[in-house]
Amino acid sequence: MRAHVDKDACIGCGLCTDICPEVFSMDDDGKAVAIDSEIPADAVDSAKEAEGQCPTEAIKVE
Ligand code: SF4
Repeated sequence: MRAHVDKDACIGCGLCTDICPEVFSMDDDGKAVAIDSEIPADAVDSAKEAEGQCPTEAIKVE
């Protein structure tokens, strides 16, 4: 599975980086970015939680 952040939708709240720092980090522009590789198996659940909690539905995990 991979994660993707829609930067146009992201408001930079930082929630996803709190929930799943293994996958999400904040970019220099203050928007979240996801790792550009397969989500580690032990981080899939938290990545999905971040997807569900994102206030602007900017995250897709698929
Ligand atoms: S939770 Fe959503 S809006 Fe907040 S930083 Fe992450 S992707 Fe952006």
